[in-house]
Amino acid sequence: MLYYYQFDLAGIIILVFTVVSLWFRQRSLFRHAHYALCMLVTAFAFALSDALSAYLITLANPALYELTYIVLLVYFTALIIFPYFALQFIAKECGEMSHTGLALFIPVFFTLLLYFTNPSTGFFFVLQRNPLVYYSGRCYWISPGLYIFFMIYAAILVQKHRRLLGKQRCHVLMLVGIVSLGTFAMNFLLPNYSIVGFMIAVCISFTVISFYMADGVMDMLTGVYNRNGFLRGCDELIYKDKSNNLLLTKIKIHNLQEINERFGTRVGDLVLVRIADSLVKSRMSNKMIYGRIGGDTFAVLAEREYFEECPFHSNLGQFIGELISDMDYEVVFYSGVYPVKAEDSDVESILDRATYALDRVRGSFKEHVRFFDEELTAEYEQRSRIEQMARSALKHDAFRVYLQPIYDTMTRRLVSAEALVRWTDRDGTLISPDEFIPVFERNGFISQVDLFVLEEICKTIRSWIDHGIDPVPVSVNISRVDITSPRFADILVEVVDRYRIDHSLIKIELTESAFNDQLALIDSCMSQLRKQGFKILMDDFGSGYSNLNMFQDISVDIVKIDMKFLRNIDTNSKGRVILRSVVDMSKNLGLEIVVEGVETEEQFLIIREMSCEMTQGYYFSRPMPLQMFDDLLSYEHTKETYEEEVEEVLDEELA
Ligand code: C2E
Ligand code: CA
Ligand code: CA
Repeated sequence: MLYYYQFDLAGIIILVFTVVSLWFRQRSLFRHAHYALCMLVTAFAFALSDALSAYLITLANPALYELTYIVLLVYFTALIIFPYFALQFIAKECGEMSHTGLALFIPVFFTLLLYFTNPSTGFFFVLQRNPLVYYSGRCYWISPGLYIFFMIYAAILVQKHRRLLGKQRCHVLMLVGIVSLGTFAMNFLLPNYSIVGFMIAVCISFTVISFYMADGVMDMLTGVYNRNGFLRGCDELIYKDKSNNLLLTKIKIHNLQEINERFGTRVGDLVLVRIADSLVKSRMSNKMIYGRIGGDTFAVLAEREYFEECPFHSNLGQFIGELISDMDYEVVFYSGVYPVKAEDSDVESILDRATYALDRVRGSFKEHVRFFDEELTAEYEQRSRIEQMARSALKHDAFRVYLQPIYDTMTRRLVSAEALVRWTDRDGTLISPDEFIPVFERNGFISQVDLFVLEEICKTIRSWIDHGIDPVPVSVNISRVDITSPRFADILVEVVDRYRIDHSLIKIELTESAFNDQLALIDSCMSQLRKQGFKILMDDFGSGYSNLNMFQDISVDIVKIDMKFLRNIDTNSKGRVILRSVVDMSKNLGLEIVVEGVETEEQFLIIREMSCEMTQGYYFSRPMPLQMFDDLLSYEHTKETYEEEVEEVLDEELA
């Protein structure tokens, strides 16, 4: 008999331990996981009343008759309320709340009513006062019967929502089911060694801990799904719903960081919690999944009608604004919407498309919502094609380096060149760098391409030197992505040194906009390279909203001004004024100037008049394959020597 309460007490210790460790590890959980907590509490009541009633019955003290009776009633009540909450917990994890709640409460309610009739009917148990003896009643089986019914229901739910629950949680639930059945069987076979209370405690602790600590699908701050939970929920909904009527929206709060900085993270958190709450309230049907999938990003998958009817979505900006109206500050958001098609099955790629649409609208002043329409579909497909082809392209020698000559503005002599990458696809079509560079910057492949270009250039310069041709310095473009690698400068130096090339022959071009972010990182990388003797060039100067203060923090040797920014310079006097002031400023800072994109004689004359040192553009030459550039360089070389010889002869003749 003693084993009864020893096991139950051990169970209680396990439950207390679970609650305490959850409290310390994930306190915010206690705000959201209501059913898990209810389940823990009723299990606690169950184990306690089980132990206490067993103990009281062993005492067999008639004076404790009333107490024993009440404890037994509590035990029987807990015996059915506990599995009820356990089922609710599973139903909530399966996103099934709407039907299960009331339907399951009815049998529980009637059983509870029956308990109150027990003193007169003895349906469930009979407690004899003197001597104090306990007998099972005629309807004793109702409680374990309900227990088993709930378990079967839970098994059906788990089966139905396998995708949503994920493998790990399904396995946990299956194990818990098997253990409970085993425990029940043991209870019947060896009634004196009942460990039901203990096993229930172990099962719950195991489930709760593995659900919330090991396989977290909830966002602890807001209590909605996190990315993991959202993706699983979407996967299930998309798998089941083929109505072609679902939209996935990704919503990003544009200025959360600013809100955090200005008003404190508490307010930032409040904004997030309010948004999540509104999503919960706006839920119209089971066909809706939402979650906070990133720090400042939410996502919603729902039927089209939801987005049309729900005030939350039609006016999100104002809505969020009202949430924190007291702080007189606008919460700016952007969203990208992807209409899910019947053939779409991969959630990650669905989300990726919504992200693509979102990225296209982020930062815009005019619109805040962008649909993944036909235009974006075409762009996106092209991007995916490029990504797919990219890896094999390097192996298959599909990239080529072209050189565009750069001339001295005064003497019209070839003084330098810029390396530009070219990509010929398998069927021979040329893909423009403007198309693939942004894609490569996103997936990081650009670093490999840039190193490839550098290596080709080093080979080329080496061969010039070996063939006795006077080399000209060549500039290579590097992407901001390269600089994020801390070893970038070392790798670059290693390549150049491997070809025994003087560092002054390599110039590094970095586009102006790259200087806007990660200034410290860029500055340290650039100064390291400058110390090694490489020239640094700021490309596309004037293209963005140039921050002139930047020059105080960053050291460059050359600025490259693109004529694109000053189109119609020959006819537009304002453009000329701008160019003049940029040129003056650069000169005052002691920087050399290259003007690129020079296409006409007029443009050339203007920049010559402004005494810009170097020119690059179609007016002089288009980018050309390496071989052609070799010929050009040799020709320039011989022309130069020829001219020098002629001059010498003339000088001699004059003398
Ligand atoms: P960028 O660095 O500004 O390169 C100059 C672009 O202007 C080149 O286009 C060049 O062909 C073009 N161009 C030169 N002269 C003229 C002209 O007179 N008129 C006009 N309209 N255009 C002219 P390209 O080769 O298509 O390269 C586009 C961009 O792709 C480059 O702009 C650069 O940002 C990037 N890129 C090219 N090669 C590489 C590379 O190896 N690595 C990295 N990271 N980026 C590269
Ligand atoms: Ca460039
Ligand atoms: Ca440029």
